[in-house]
Amino acid sequence: MPKTYRRANVEISNICNLKCSFCPEVEREKQVMRPETFDQLAAQLAPLVDEVCLHLMGEPLNHPRFSEFIAACARHQLPVNLTTNGLLLQGPRKEWALHPIVRQVNISVHSFEANFGLRDVGPYMERVFQFTREALAQRPDLYINLRLWDLTDPSSLNATNAAIRQHIEEEFHLDLSQLKVDIRRRKNLPLQGRIYLHFDSRFTWPSPSLPPLSRTGFCHGLSNHFGVHADGTVVPCCLDKEAVINLGNIARQSLTEILQSPRAESIRQGFARGERREDLCQRCPFIERFASKARKLAARHPDFS
Ligand code: SF4
Ligand code: SF4
Repeated sequence: MPKTYRRANVEISNICNLKCSFCPEVEREKQVMRPETFDQLAAQLAPLVDEVCLHLMGEPLNHPRFSEFIAACARHQLPVNLTTNGLLLQGPRKEWALHPIVRQVNISVHSFEANFGLRDVGPYMERVFQFTREALAQRPDLYINLRLWDLTDPSSLNATNAAIRQHIEEEFHLDLSQLKVDIRRRKNLPLQGRIYLHFDSRFTWPSPSLPPLSRTGFCHGLSNHFGVHADGTVVPCCLDKEAVINLGNIARQSLTEILQSPRAESIRQGFARGERREDLCQRCPFIERFASKARKLAARHPDFS
Protein backbone atom coordinates (compact mmCIF):
# COMPACT_ATOMS: atom_id res chain seq x y z
CA MET A 1 0.00 0.00 0.00
CA PRO A 2 1.48 3.41 -0.91
CA LYS A 3 1.93 5.62 2.13
CA THR A 4 0.54 9.17 2.34
CA TYR A 5 3.94 10.80 2.88
CA ARG A 6 7.37 10.00 1.61
CA ARG A 7 9.17 11.09 4.76
CA ALA A 8 8.92 12.55 8.25
CA ASN A 9 11.90 14.43 9.67
CA VAL A 10 11.95 13.71 13.38
CA GLU A 11 14.38 15.73 15.46
CA ILE A 12 15.48 13.28 18.12
CA SER A 13 17.93 15.92 19.40
CA ASN A 14 18.30 19.58 18.53
CA ILE A 15 21.81 19.62 19.99
CA CYS A 16 24.76 19.30 17.65
CA ASN A 17 28.40 18.44 18.36
CA LEU A 18 29.42 20.83 15.55
CA LYS A 19 28.66 24.41 14.60
CA CYS A 20 28.68 24.67 10.83
CA SER A 21 28.99 28.16 9.39
CA PHE A 22 26.03 27.52 7.04
CA CYS A 23 23.72 26.01 9.69
CA PRO A 24 21.92 28.60 11.82
CA GLU A 25 21.94 28.20 15.60
CA VAL A 26 18.80 26.66 17.13
CA GLU A 27 17.10 29.36 19.21
CA ARG A 28 14.63 26.96 20.87
CA GLU A 29 15.38 25.29 24.20
CA LYS A 30 18.13 22.71 23.64
CA GLN A 31 16.64 19.30 24.23
CA VAL A 32 16.44 15.67 23.20
CA MET A 33 13.33 13.60 22.52
CA ARG A 34 12.55 10.82 24.98
CA PRO A 35 12.69 7.36 23.36
CA GLU A 36 9.32 6.60 25.01
CA THR A 37 7.78 9.60 23.18
CA PHE A 38 9.39 8.47 19.95
CA ASP A 39 8.05 4.95 20.37
CA GLN A 40 4.47 6.29 20.44
CA LEU A 41 5.22 8.57 17.50
CA ALA A 42 6.79 5.70 15.50
CA ALA A 43 3.57 3.69 15.91
CA GLN A 44 1.67 6.59 14.28
CA LEU A 45 4.30 7.16 11.60
CA ALA A 46 4.58 3.55 10.41
CA PRO A 47 1.27 3.49 8.46
CA LEU A 48 1.74 7.09 7.23
CA VAL A 49 5.28 7.49 5.89
CA ASP A 50 7.73 5.54 3.72
CA GLU A 51 10.60 6.39 6.04
CA VAL A 52 11.61 8.45 9.03
CA CYS A 53 14.62 10.71 8.81
CA LEU A 54 16.09 11.00 12.33
CA HIS A 55 17.16 14.58 11.79
CA LEU A 56 15.75 18.05 11.52
CA MET A 57 18.27 20.13 13.46
CA GLY A 58 21.01 18.66 15.68
CA GLU A 59 23.12 15.51 15.42
CA PRO A 60 21.12 12.28 15.92
CA LEU A 61 24.15 10.17 16.88
CA ASN A 62 24.72 12.61 19.74
CA HIS A 63 21.58 11.35 21.50
CA PRO A 64 22.75 9.37 24.56
CA ARG A 65 20.00 6.77 23.93
CA PHE A 66 20.37 6.62 20.13
CA SER A 67 20.13 2.81 20.02
CA GLU A 68 16.60 2.90 21.47
CA PHE A 69 15.37 4.96 18.51
CA ILE A 70 16.68 2.42 16.00
CA ALA A 71 15.20 -0.41 18.08
CA ALA A 72 11.80 1.38 18.10
CA CYS A 73 11.91 1.80 14.31
CA ALA A 74 12.70 -1.91 13.93
CA ARG A 75 9.79 -2.81 16.24
CA HIS A 76 7.37 -0.70 14.18
CA GLN A 77 8.90 -1.70 10.83
CA LEU A 78 9.63 1.95 10.08
CA PRO A 79 12.58 2.33 7.66
CA VAL A 80 15.22 4.83 8.79
CA ASN A 81 17.04 7.50 6.86
CA LEU A 82 19.91 8.73 9.00
CA THR A 83 21.61 12.07 8.41
CA THR A 84 24.80 12.63 10.36
CA ASN A 85 28.01 14.63 10.25
CA GLY A 86 29.80 11.28 10.78
CA LEU A 87 32.03 12.37 13.69
CA LEU A 88 30.45 9.83 16.04
CA LEU A 89 30.16 7.05 13.49
CA GLN A 90 32.17 4.50 15.44
CA GLY A 91 31.76 1.79 18.12
CA PRO A 92 28.20 0.77 19.04
CA ARG A 93 26.68 3.77 17.22
CA LYS A 94 28.26 2.58 13.99
CA GLU A 95 26.80 -0.91 14.56
CA TRP A 96 23.33 0.58 15.12
CA ALA A 97 23.68 2.64 11.94
CA LEU A 98 24.20 -0.65 10.10
CA HIS A 99 21.01 -2.19 11.56
CA PRO A 100 18.78 -3.76 8.83
CA ILE A 101 15.97 -1.24 9.51
CA VAL A 102 18.30 1.58 8.32
CA ARG A 103 17.64 2.18 4.63
CA GLN A 104 19.94 5.12 3.95
CA VAL A 105 22.75 7.01 5.68
CA ASN A 106 23.68 10.54 4.58
CA ILE A 107 27.07 11.69 5.82
CA SER A 108 27.55 15.45 5.57
CA VAL A 109 31.29 15.43 4.87
CA HIS A 110 31.14 19.15 4.01
CA SER A 111 30.62 19.78 7.76
CA PHE A 112 34.38 19.15 8.38
CA GLU A 113 35.55 22.24 6.51
CA ALA A 114 32.78 24.32 8.07
CA ASN A 115 34.20 23.58 11.55
CA PHE A 116 37.89 22.71 11.18
CA GLY A 117 38.85 24.79 8.14
CA LEU A 118 42.14 23.64 6.65
CA ARG A 119 42.96 21.00 9.32
CA ASP A 120 43.97 17.56 8.02
CA VAL A 121 40.77 15.85 6.96
CA GLY A 122 42.47 12.42 6.67
CA PRO A 123 41.53 10.89 10.08
CA TYR A 124 37.90 12.03 9.66
CA MET A 125 37.65 10.54 6.17
CA GLU A 126 39.24 7.31 7.42
CA ARG A 127 36.41 7.03 9.96
CA VAL A 128 33.88 7.61 7.18
CA PHE A 129 35.56 4.97 5.01
CA GLN A 130 35.64 2.44 7.87
CA PHE A 131 31.88 2.80 7.88
CA THR A 132 31.50 2.51 4.08
CA ARG A 133 33.79 -0.56 4.02
CA GLU A 134 31.77 -2.28 6.75
CA ALA A 135 28.54 -1.34 4.99
CA LEU A 136 29.77 -2.84 1.71
CA ALA A 137 30.63 -6.08 3.56
CA GLN A 138 27.60 -6.34 5.88
CA ARG A 139 24.88 -4.22 4.29
CA PRO A 140 25.40 -4.00 0.51
CA ASP A 141 21.73 -2.95 0.23
CA LEU A 142 22.29 0.19 2.36
CA TYR A 143 22.27 3.49 0.44
CA ILE A 144 25.02 5.86 1.55
CA ASN A 145 25.36 9.43 0.35
CA LEU A 146 28.58 11.28 1.03
CA ARG A 147 27.25 14.83 0.90
CA LEU A 148 29.52 17.53 -0.45
CA TRP A 149 27.18 20.50 -0.53
CA ASP A 150 29.65 23.18 -1.38
CA LEU A 151 29.06 24.19 -4.93
CA THR A 152 27.29 24.89 -8.08
CA ASP A 153 30.40 23.75 -9.97
CA PRO A 154 32.64 20.87 -8.73
CA SER A 155 35.77 22.68 -9.92
CA SER A 156 35.01 25.46 -7.41
CA LEU A 157 35.43 23.28 -4.28
CA ASN A 158 37.33 24.97 -1.46
CA ALA A 159 40.71 23.46 -0.41
CA THR A 160 39.42 21.15 2.34
CA ASN A 161 36.52 19.88 0.27
CA ALA A 162 38.90 19.36 -2.66
CA ALA A 163 41.03 17.24 -0.27
CA ILE A 164 37.90 15.28 0.68
CA ARG A 165 37.29 14.63 -2.98
CA GLN A 166 40.89 13.41 -3.34
CA HIS A 167 40.46 10.97 -0.42
CA ILE A 168 37.29 9.70 -2.09
CA GLU A 169 39.17 9.20 -5.37
CA GLU A 170 41.83 7.15 -3.58
CA GLU A 171 39.35 5.06 -1.60
CA PHE A 172 37.14 4.22 -4.57
CA HIS A 173 39.87 4.22 -7.28
CA LEU A 174 38.21 6.93 -9.34
CA ASP A 175 39.40 10.00 -11.19
CA LEU A 176 36.98 12.85 -10.55
CA SER A 177 39.24 15.60 -11.87
CA GLN A 178 37.31 16.00 -15.13
CA LEU A 179 33.98 15.70 -13.38
CA LYS A 180 31.30 18.03 -14.65
CA VAL A 181 28.15 18.02 -12.55
CA ASP A 182 25.12 20.09 -13.37
CA ILE A 183 23.22 19.88 -10.09
CA ARG A 184 20.02 21.01 -11.80
CA ARG A 185 20.03 17.68 -13.67
CA ARG A 186 22.03 15.20 -11.62
CA LYS A 187 23.39 15.36 -8.08
CA ASN A 188 24.57 11.81 -7.43
CA LEU A 189 27.74 10.21 -8.65
CA PRO A 190 27.98 6.42 -8.05
CA LEU A 191 31.16 5.44 -6.17
CA GLN A 192 30.69 1.74 -5.42
CA GLY A 193 27.61 -0.45 -4.91
CA ARG A 194 25.01 1.82 -3.34
CA ILE A 195 27.49 4.43 -2.17
CA TYR A 196 27.20 7.81 -3.87
CA LEU A 197 28.89 11.17 -3.80
CA HIS A 198 26.12 13.73 -3.52
CA PHE A 199 26.67 17.28 -4.73
CA ASP A 200 24.47 20.24 -4.01
CA SER A 201 24.67 23.96 -3.41
CA ARG A 202 24.07 25.68 -0.08
CA PHE A 203 20.79 27.46 0.54
CA THR A 204 19.39 30.30 2.63
CA TRP A 205 17.11 29.23 5.47
CA PRO A 206 13.65 30.79 5.57
CA SER A 207 13.24 33.29 8.38
CA PRO A 208 10.62 35.85 9.49
CA SER A 209 13.43 38.43 9.34
CA LEU A 210 13.94 37.99 5.58
CA PRO A 211 12.05 40.29 3.21
CA PRO A 212 8.89 38.88 1.61
CA LEU A 213 9.70 37.29 -1.75
CA SER A 214 6.42 36.21 -3.29
CA ARG A 215 2.92 34.97 -2.53
CA THR A 216 3.12 32.44 -5.36
CA GLY A 217 5.15 29.27 -5.38
CA PHE A 218 5.12 25.54 -4.85
CA CYS A 219 6.65 23.41 -2.12
CA HIS A 220 6.45 19.72 -1.23
CA GLY A 221 5.94 20.54 2.48
CA LEU A 222 2.89 18.65 3.84
CA SER A 223 2.30 16.73 0.61
CA ASN A 224 5.58 14.80 0.54
CA HIS A 225 6.95 15.33 4.04
CA PHE A 226 6.59 17.09 7.40
CA GLY A 227 8.72 17.55 10.51
CA VAL A 228 8.46 16.89 14.24
CA HIS A 229 10.65 18.87 16.64
CA ALA A 230 12.30 17.41 19.75
CA ASP A 231 9.52 18.86 21.93
CA GLY A 232 6.81 17.20 19.80
CA THR A 233 5.79 20.26 17.74
CA VAL A 234 4.75 19.38 14.19
CA VAL A 235 5.91 21.66 11.35
CA PRO A 236 5.36 21.45 7.57
CA CYS A 237 9.00 20.98 6.56
CA CYS A 238 12.53 20.39 7.79
CA LEU A 239 13.44 24.07 7.25
CA ASP A 240 11.01 25.50 9.83
CA LYS A 241 13.68 25.25 12.48
CA GLU A 242 11.98 27.53 15.05
CA ALA A 243 8.43 26.19 14.57
CA VAL A 244 7.15 29.45 13.13
CA ILE A 245 4.41 27.35 11.49
CA ASN A 246 3.37 25.45 14.62
CA LEU A 247 0.70 22.95 13.55
CA GLY A 248 0.22 21.30 16.95
CA ASN A 249 2.01 19.01 19.37
CA ILE A 250 1.96 15.22 19.50
CA ALA A 251 1.78 15.38 23.31
CA ARG A 252 -1.74 16.84 23.03
CA GLN A 253 -3.17 15.57 19.71
CA SER A 254 -2.74 12.60 17.42
CA LEU A 255 -0.44 13.11 14.46
CA THR A 256 -3.30 12.52 12.00
CA GLU A 257 -5.42 15.19 13.70
CA ILE A 258 -2.54 17.67 13.43
CA LEU A 259 -1.84 16.86 9.78
CA GLN A 260 -5.54 17.30 8.95
CA SER A 261 -5.97 20.52 10.92
CA PRO A 262 -7.42 23.54 9.05
CA ARG A 263 -4.01 25.27 9.01
CA ALA A 264 -2.26 22.20 7.55
CA GLU A 265 -5.03 21.73 4.96
CA SER A 266 -4.78 25.38 3.96
CA ILE A 267 -0.99 25.14 3.41
CA ARG A 268 -1.45 21.98 1.32
CA GLN A 269 -4.29 23.43 -0.75
CA GLY A 270 -2.32 26.64 -1.27
CA PHE A 271 0.73 24.85 -2.68
CA ALA A 272 -1.52 22.72 -4.92
CA ARG A 273 -2.72 26.00 -6.48
CA GLY A 274 0.74 27.61 -6.56
CA GLU A 275 0.06 29.85 -3.52
CA ARG A 276 2.27 30.40 -0.50
CA ARG A 277 -0.25 31.01 2.27
CA GLU A 278 2.08 31.20 5.29
CA ASP A 279 4.17 34.29 5.97
CA LEU A 280 7.31 32.15 6.49
CA CYS A 281 6.77 30.46 3.11
CA GLN A 282 6.46 33.88 1.46
CA ARG A 283 9.97 34.62 2.81
CA CYS A 284 11.47 31.22 1.90
CA PRO A 285 14.24 31.33 -0.73
CA PHE A 286 14.48 27.52 -0.83
CA ILE A 287 11.27 27.02 -2.79
CA GLU A 288 12.70 28.87 -5.77
CA ARG A 289 14.07 25.38 -6.59
CA PHE A 290 10.54 24.39 -7.56
CA ALA A 291 9.90 27.48 -9.68
CA SER A 292 9.03 25.59 -12.88
CA LYS A 293 6.34 23.56 -11.08
CA ALA A 294 5.01 26.81 -9.58
CA ARG A 295 4.79 28.39 -13.05
CA LYS A 296 2.75 25.41 -14.33
CA LEU A 297 0.37 25.68 -11.36
CA ALA A 298 0.04 29.44 -11.82
CA ALA A 299 -0.97 28.88 -15.45
CA ARG A 300 -3.65 26.46 -14.27
CA HIS A 301 -4.96 28.88 -11.58
CA PRO A 302 -4.77 32.33 -13.21
CA ASP A 303 -7.19 33.75 -10.61
CA PHE A 304 -4.34 33.92 -8.07
CA SER A 305 -1.58 36.45 -8.47
S1 SF4 B 1 26.57 19.06 11.55
FE1 SF4 B 1 24.55 19.38 10.61
S2 SF4 B 1 23.16 19.96 12.30
FE2 SF4 B 1 25.30 20.15 13.04
S3 SF4 B 1 25.79 22.32 12.75
FE3 SF4 B 1 26.50 21.19 10.92
S4 SF4 B 1 24.78 21.26 9.44
FE4 SF4 B 1 23.99 21.86 11.46
S1 SF4 C 1 7.99 27.12 1.50
FE1 SF4 C 1 9.84 26.95 2.74
S2 SF4 C 1 9.12 27.32 4.85
FE2 SF4 C 1 7.29 26.89 3.59
S3 SF4 C 1 6.93 24.69 3.83
FE3 SF4 C 1 8.23 24.97 2.01
S4 SF4 C 1 10.37 24.79 2.70
FE4 SF4 C 1 9.06 25.12 4.48
